[in-house]
Amino acid sequence: MIPHQFYSQLAVLGLLWLCVMLHLAWPSRGVTPQTQPAKPITPRRQRSTDPKPFTGLTHKPHCALGAQEAAPPQASPPVRPDPMPPTHRRPRTVDTSRHFCPHTGCRYRGWLGLGNLRANGHPSGGPWRQFHCTACQGYFLETHGTIFHGKQAPVELIVRVVACLAEGLGIRATARVFEVDAHTVLHWLVEAAEQRRAFSAHFLCDLHLEQLQLDEVYAVLRDRKAGAINDDEAIQRLERSPSWVWTAMDPRSKLLVVVDVGCRTLAMAQRVVHQVTRVLAPGWVPLLLTDGLKDYGTALLTHFGHWIHPERRQDKGPRPKPRWMPLPALLYAQVVKSYRRRRLVGVTHRVVFGTRLAIEQVLARCGWTIKTAFVERLNLDLRQRVAAIGRRVNTLCQGEAGLRDQ
Ligand SMILES: [Zn+2]
Repeated sequence: MIPHQFYSQLAVLGLLWLCVMLHLAWPSRGVTPQTQPAKPITPRRQRSTDPKPFTGLTHKPHCALGAQEAAPPQASPPVRPDPMPPTHRRPRTVDTSRHFCPHTGCRYRGWLGLGNLRANGHPSGGPWRQFHCTACQGYFLETHGTIFHGKQAPVELIVRVVACLAEGLGIRATARVFEVDAHTVLHWLVEAAEQRRAFSAHFLCDLHLEQLQLDEVYAVLRDRKAGAINDDEAIQRLERSPSWVWTAMDPRSKLLVVVDVGCRTLAMAQRVVHQVTRVLAPGWVPLLLTDGLKDYGTALLTHFGHWIHPERRQDKGPRPKPRWMPLPALLYAQVVKSYRRRRLVGVTHRVVFGTRLAIEQVLARCGWTIKTAFVERLNLDLRQRVAAIGRRVNTLCQGEAGLRDQ
């Protein structure tokens, strides 16, 4: 049997050894300054935060929408037919100058105020008038081409349902409020969205916007075109499927210029910027602010760029290749938001194209700095986002409503 004392002595020896080893291994302060030549402490070189000047690309980046539009079918513009001669009948009291004949094959199709339409009264006591085209002898209702066409439901109900959707109430909830079938609400929504698209395509053009902010909101949304998937599935998706809503907006007028839905990719950034260029007046370049998504830079460069032929550096040798460079008027800054636990904790910005001074001058005209301008926009986003999360609504509809309002 081994006595206890043996163990305690072993422990004491072990502690002693540990003390000696620690003493040797510890770097002592007072000794040996000579053994190691003292190096001056150099501060670590800070990487310059100023971006290097952009040297241009050797090829223009690709934009799918731009390539599609590059070769439009060149159809000759239609010739305006002569106005209809006046007849000996009693003068017309109903104004038909805001309508046109919708029948394909009619020469007067699409032309307003040529006197080819006659109002016929209300067929079977309905709320809408019937029009008769004296050119093609065709008949059509005055609601043709509107959301009210072929609907039994009262106008006020449809308007209120769409307004409710636009305010952010979900499809099922709206259906419950107005005691309408959810599928009906969905159809109305799809139709209203198509009308909205046509409306904004017609009215939003040739804009001279001083600044534009582009952003993506993660939201609950739809990707449905009528008939692509069945209604139940669509309603489910509409209320559940997460997606990105891309927006471009003038922060001063709060005019929503572009609303699009898609994933967060370069192709989508190109698509959004392409749509922005289409609503702007030709040659107009606004100040652009986006979040920190890198793809915006490429997309903006694609649409607001031009070829530069650099000067020869030496007399001999081949000419340097042309470079695709941003337009001199292009001002673009990124505002990078940092979040902690979903709360905004910091905003930093970096100037990508143009000079900081030029950007600040544009912003100063409305009393903003780069930071505040984006926060203005951000507040709006957050409001939308809160609604989207809290009430599980269709954020796209809010955007569309905003667009329609504007
Ligand atoms: Zn006609």
